Amino acid sequence: MHQFNKHLRLTIYISTILFAALLLGFRFLTNPVTIIGHLKNNSKDNSAFVDRVIVFVKADNKILAKVLTDEKGDFEITIIPQKEKSFDFYCTGLGLDTLLISSVTTFESDTNEMAFYIPGLLKRNALGKVICPICKRADKVYKIQYGDAPVITRHISNTGDTTYSPKYKGTYQESCIIGPAKYYCDRDKAKF
Ligand SMILES: [Zn+2]
Repeated sequence: MHQFNKHLRLTIYISTILFAALLLGFRFLTNPVTIIGHLKNNSKDNSAFVDRVIVFVKADNKILAKVLTDEKGDFEITIIPQKEKSFDFYCTGLGLDTLLISSVTTFESDTNEMAFYIPGLLKRNALGKVICPICKRADKVYKIQYGDAPVITRHISNTGDTTYSPKYKGTYQESCIIGPAKYYCDRDKAKF
């Protein structure tokens, strides 16, 4: 009887290890995805630099990869997708505020050649309103207003806390430094 228990325990032990290895194996089998990116100026606004700009990919609030563009605005970035809802491409650099340039939900293959624009190309809904690249909705999108004195509005929440928001009369007030971002999504806290 004692011998049988020992044998059973050993069997359970080995199966557990095999099962864990199988699960981990499946995780490691997720293919890395490489993006050969070309950062370009938007024909409507070519004030931003595309060279030596930091490009990073964010998903589920985590930065998955970060790279610096070369003198032509080209870059190569590799990520290992798990089960993220979307892969959000941002760029930032000297005199450039963090800017959302694209949001991708799936990749067509292991190597993808993609063009990105600063500022990103705007998409509008059927009503002609600009939609956010991440949530694809227009309801929390505000036009960014650049001015000398940003207007700060005061909000008092249900809990009685006072919060200050740069949103004012449906626009998002920015400082006097004019950036390439034209819109801001309050849902995703992203400028694009
Ligand atoms: Zn959004």
